[in-house]
Amino acid sequence: MKLHSENFPLRPAWTEIDLGKLRRNLQLIRRDLPGAVKLLAVVKDEAYGHGALDVARIALDEGAWGCGLSTLEEAMTLRDEGITAPLLLLGERQEAELSWCVAHDLTVCVNEPQIVRTLAKIATAFGKQVPVHVKIHSGMSRYGVRWDEALPLLDLITAEKALRLEGVMTHFAQSDETDKTFANLQFARFNEVLAGLAARGVSVPLRHTCNSGGFLDLPQAHLDMVRVGILLFGIFPSSVCRRIPGLEPVMSVKARIAAIQPLKPGEVVGYGMRYTAPSERRIAVLPIGYGDGFPRVRNQGSVLIHGRRAPLIGGIAMDALMVDITDLPEAQMWDEAVIMGRQGGEEITVHEIAKLKNSVSYDVLTGWRLRLRRKHVNRDIANRAVLDESAHVATAPA
Ligand SMILES: *Cc1c(COP(=O)(O)O)cnc(C)c1O
Repeated sequence: MKLHSENFPLRPAWTEIDLGKLRRNLQLIRRDLPGAVKLLAVVKDEAYGHGALDVARIALDEGAWGCGLSTLEEAMTLRDEGITAPLLLLGERQEAELSWCVAHDLTVCVNEPQIVRTLAKIATAFGKQVPVHVKIHSGMSRYGVRWDEALPLLDLITAEKALRLEGVMTHFAQSDETDKTFANLQFARFNEVLAGLAARGVSVPLRHTCNSGGFLDLPQAHLDMVRVGILLFGIFPSSVCRRIPGLEPVMSVKARIAAIQPLKPGEVVGYGMRYTAPSERRIAVLPIGYGDGFPRVRNQGSVLIHGRRAPLIGGIAMDALMVDITDLPEAQMWDEAVIMGRQGGEEITVHEIAKLKNSVSYDVLTGWRLRLRRKHVNRDIANRAVLDESAHVATAPA
């Protein structure tokens, strides 16, 4: 056997991406959505850490209209891999990027006159009529043209022969909480813009406002398309939003026990000696740490081994964390531990880790570093329909 860098054994810590579950989630979401409403699969930031190319392929196969991305590099990677579907760049564009966008048919959001003019010039030079989307800032104060200043910009676009106004969109600051007051205000402002367009006789084929939270809880705002990210991966954006039964998390994080240490009473564990054994203990070392994206906690949290919780002890290191396995005598070297995900009847949710990190599920999913290689499972299942219409659909985790 040749000992090359492409066939070395992978380290005993990894993220597992269940493409069968991803496909099933997509089928459940597609089934929940009215048939006329298109689905934009948001696959920015490597599909929230799940691997953009695989997710994009499966989403498009399951009927997504296109993919939403943040950066030119993300979109170019998909184009280079042969994805020909619409790719919508959701963020702000530098003028220097526009030639690439036109050359590779990447759809951009425009929200200021200078970009409109430059884009039209480039499109003309390429002999193309390019679709554009306009992002309306309706109250979130992030990207976009203010709702009360949008019509002049829209007029500018409709006057450019090289541009085609394909979409108008807005983004909700809060769509997944019980109180929808601000979302409703934003939607009303967005509708003022749509009314202005209608008064001009301009019809826009893709009016879109909803992220996962809006898709679940603001059906009146679905319009022509919804932009769904986190829900594709089986994670609900909040604890109070509507549930779609059967959705399951796609990502797990796993590691194997790489050392076992017996402790005598009074012995300490890890940097800073943050844990002192109160009695004889047995501890396992897992080769994963804050250098992989695990929150830098001390004596907090747990992992699953043999389907049961083993508490973290001491401070977590860059490449290691220690857990107490005194109550798991069956645990042995190289046994599999689940850092995030299910094992037996137990589960460590993304929300549980988010709490340790003092953050949100989005941050946890995208925060796992790439030195944890992605292991894709159920690619075979992922190649065929997995949603059995007659099967009883399991209830979603709370
Ligand atoms: C990221 C993003 C989404 C997807 O949000 P989820 O909450 O993950 O569904 C939708 N629209 C825009 C503009 C985004 O930036």
